Formats: sequence, structure tokens, C-alpha cells
Amino acid sequence: PSTDMAEFKQVLRGAKNIIAVCGAGLSAASGIPTFRGAGGMWRKYDAMSLATPEAFEENPALVWQFYHYRREKARAAEPNAAHMALARFSIPTHRRAVAPDAGFSLITQNVDGLSVRALDAVLQAEEPKPTGVAPLLEMHGRIMDVSCTMRLCGHVESNNASPICAALGGTEERVEAGTIDAEIAKGQLPRCSKCGALARPGVVWFGEMPRYLGEIDKLVEQADLCLVVGTSSTVYPAAGYAAEVQDHGGRVAVFNLERSDGDEYADFLFLGPCEETLPDALGSN
Ligand code: NAD
Repeated sequence: PSTDMAEFKQVLRGAKNIIAVCGAGLSAASGIPTFRGAGGMWRKYDAMSLATPEAFEENPALVWQFYHYRREKARAAEPNAAHMALARFSIPTHRRAVAPDAGFSLITQNVDGLSVRALDAVLQAEEPKPTGVAPLLEMHGRIMDVSCTMRLCGHVESNNASPICAALGGTEERVEAGTIDAEIAKGQLPRCSKCGALARPGVVWFGEMPRYLGEIDKLVEQADLCLVVGTSSTVYPAAGYAAEVQDHGGRVAVFNLERSDGDEYADFLFLGPCEETLPDALGSN
């Protein structure tokens, strides 16, 4: 793949429909651990092994504690330069590096809500409010959401206060310090505010169906340029989008810290922290 930024900018200028497919690496500089590599362990557990319906079934207290830890990380985090570059790029009048009629959509696997917060921050400063803001699809849900485990109820609510802090004695430090899971009785776990059943983190776990798949498929079909940002490209279906874009003649640009499975389909490869490479590439630094 090419590493020529000037050449990439030329392709960007000619693109008609651009999508960005983002992963955990986008939020790494904001202090949110990725699932693979250095941040992949929580206590003695592999983070990925806790993000499954089976793990929750077997030990909901342990999984809630893991999510409590991750929620606190997300809550304390701030969007970084890469989130801000994508947020500015989401507003047509800021998208100076592309043709005026080019479309853009942001698809993220992240559940931390930082892309939404970055967009909110950019929009707040805009007067009058812009039209044609790029769609932002959080395909794996949101960590600040709490949802009911009863399919027939399905109630979801956004809850910024920690749902298990009280059960843990009110201090998040105890969770980080390694409070054992047996200390939380099942009865103390978060309950659905509507029907009283056990509640769960409002995210899509490994093995579950991601959200907005129909909408995303259409965007991928139409895309002639796919930006792959901070993802190991191992979690499907997101990992397959770049290949699909390339299959129908589109181009793919990867912005990742290190080599990954996504490189196979890269026309452009910009290795390094995306909070540095992406603002430059999108012309919004
Ligand atoms: P991943 O953890 O598998 O891979 C992250 C990738 O980002 C790695 O290839 C790593 O080299 C790269 N990376 C790390 N720091 C970077 C930086 N500063 N700039 C650019 N790249 C960087 O993440 P994934 O592919 O998103 O898959 C994990 C799944 O777990 C996702 O589907 C997601 O739902 C979930 N997850 C979400 C978050 C979050 O919301 N922030 C965090 C971890 C995992």
C-alpha cells in the first residue's frame, strides 16, 4: 500500500461517498483501553472473554464490575484530536478537502460515546446550525446505556450514574482494586426500571447482532472511499467493509498504530497514532 499523503489527499478530493469505519484505537489516546494489545486485560481476565452473553449468563456480577470499570473510563475521557477531526469532517462546510457534494458517514464499533460528544462539541459552536451533518452509527451500542435482559420488555435507558456503585459500597476504587465478584449478590445487581428484571450493559457483545446493519450495508455499497481507523479488523461484520468497498472498485485507507488484518485491503496505509495522522489527512488540524 501507498504511504503517500499527497496522493491520498488527491483521492479524497475526488471521492463522492466516503465512509469511516472506526475501532477502539480511535479512543486509545483518550485513555480508553483497547481489547487487544496492552489494554486487553482487566484483573486476570482477557477483556474479550467478558464481553459475551455467555460470560454474563455465568457471572453477571463479574461482567457488571468489568463494565462499571469501563463506564468510569468512558465517563472520565475526553474526545481526542482524531474524534474532533472526524466530527469537523461530518459538517459539510468544514469538509474543505473534498468535493462540495461528497457524502460522508461515520460507522463506529466503539461504545464509549466519544464520537457523539465530539460532534456535539463542534455543533455547539456552529451558528446557524448546519444541515447535512454526516450520520453517525454506533453499531455496537453505548456503554452508558442500560438495557433490560427480558426480550419482551426491551427497555433501554441512558444512565450516567453508575448502576452498581451502591452495591460496591459507593466507591469505584474498590472495583479497580479488585473487589471479588462474590461480594455482589444477584439481588443487588442493576434492575430494569420498567419491569424489574435483571438489567445489562446496553452494548452489543461478541456473538450478538450489531445495530443498523441494513443502513450500513447501503452506505458500504455506495462508498468509493473507506477510511479504516484504529481497528484490528478482526471483528465482523465491520472487518469486512473495507474489502467490500474495494471489491466494487473503491479505495481503502487504513490509519492504525500497527499492522493489522485490515492492511490486506489497504490502498493507503498510515501507520502511527490516528490522533496525529487523521487530522492531517482530513485537513482539519
Ligand atoms: P481492537 O482492540 O481489536 O483493536 C484496536 C486497534 O487499534 C489495534 O489494531 C491497535 O493497534 C490500534 N490502535 C491502538 N492505539 C491506536 C492509536 N492511537 N491510533 C490508531 N490505532 C491505534 O479494537 P476493535 O477492532 O475496535 O475491536 C474490539 C471490539 O471491542 C469492538 O468491536 C468494540 O465494540 C469493542 N471495544 C470498544 C471500545 C471503545 O468503545 N472505546 C474499546 C475496546 C473495545
